[in-house]
Amino acid sequence: MRKKMMNIMPNNLIRTFRKYQDELEETAIEVFRSGWYILGSQLRDFEAEFASYNHVSHCVGLASGLDALWITFRMMGIGEGDEVIVQANTYIASVMGVTINGAVPVFVEPDEYFGIDADKIEEKITDKTKAVLAVHLYGIPCEMDKITEICRKHNLYLVEDCAQSHGAVYKGSMTGTFGDAGCFSFYPTKNLGAYGDGGAVITNNDDLAKSLRIFRNYGSQEHYKNIVVGANSRLDELQAGLLSVKLRHLDEINTERRIIAGRYDERIENPKFVLPRQRPGCSCVYHQYVIRSRDREMRDKLICYLDDRGIGTIIHYPIPPHLSEAYEYLGYQKGSLPITEHYADTILSIPMYNGYTEEEQEYVIKALNEF
Ligand SMILES: *Cc1c(COP(=O)(O)O)cnc(C)c1O
Repeated sequence: MRKKMMNIMPNNLIRTFRKYQDELEETAIEVFRSGWYILGSQLRDFEAEFASYNHVSHCVGLASGLDALWITFRMMGIGEGDEVIVQANTYIASVMGVTINGAVPVFVEPDEYFGIDADKIEEKITDKTKAVLAVHLYGIPCEMDKITEICRKHNLYLVEDCAQSHGAVYKGSMTGTFGDAGCFSFYPTKNLGAYGDGGAVITNNDDLAKSLRIFRNYGSQEHYKNIVVGANSRLDELQAGLLSVKLRHLDEINTERRIIAGRYDERIENPKFVLPRQRPGCSCVYHQYVIRSRDREMRDKLICYLDDRGIGTIIHYPIPPHLSEAYEYLGYQKGSLPITEHYADTILSIPMYNGYTEEEQEYVIKALNEF
């Protein structure tokens, strides 16, 4: 019999909140008392800070990561009749960012680091291709040298989905800074997480930044002078203020996750799993720590086994976008993207969050080794 049963959630946001509680509450009160809640100084400050953190000239705060994606593609003029190359193993929002505009996603399989396989991009380029969307899934940067080169050669826009890669570095540069735009989500579970929804685009392109700012506010720069049909997609003052607090601690947040990942790397010793690998030359931020089993049956057994021991896990993501009901209309069949489908059947995200104690980590490692 086990002597002790712990209860470990796959994620646990309250611990990060507690750690920074004083600063967060002070900021929240400051915003409440300011009397100004949308498009004010908190947003301006956060945008300047996040641009500076990423060494780019602009950051435009938006209402979500999905908005960051679809509005960016819209501002690039991408729509009906256009194709965008997207990696097939991603959160469905990456794909919706394309299809909301009427454009067609063209899926490319991932490489062994869960990023878009750069060697399979060129064969998918047609005269309709307008952009490539690289997703730094789980906080592991994609192979940006090759991807940047392909986009330059074929004159394609390069957009990075950085919803899971705040602070991740590829060969000395921040993710989100390689192409035309980096799209971020500040959904509460992300490494830089708000206390509600939020998103942003970073860019060095002055025109893109300007058009995003206009679009997010009903297409107006000046009150009641609407120059395009826009959206309401503004990062509010409260979230912006709270994000400024969290941004000051982002490096610490990412370092803690790297330490946890390092312990997993070193201590999980079970030939039944493949551990995630860091792409050479990269600094990963471990939004998730994703292990793989031999097959679906073993993965599903592992989920039950861990659950019996009070350890929560999540599959990111169990149904690849091309097989989801929403994208039935694209006409993909099971088996059309075998690597992506194999990953979906065999991956498992084990607990990874800030404030995850060493004792909890030991308990999880021991359980995994005994499986
Ligand atoms: C979270 C996420 C998004 C969407 O962000 P929201 O803020 O939830 O709209 C997009 N892409 C990826 C890879 C994500 O993980």
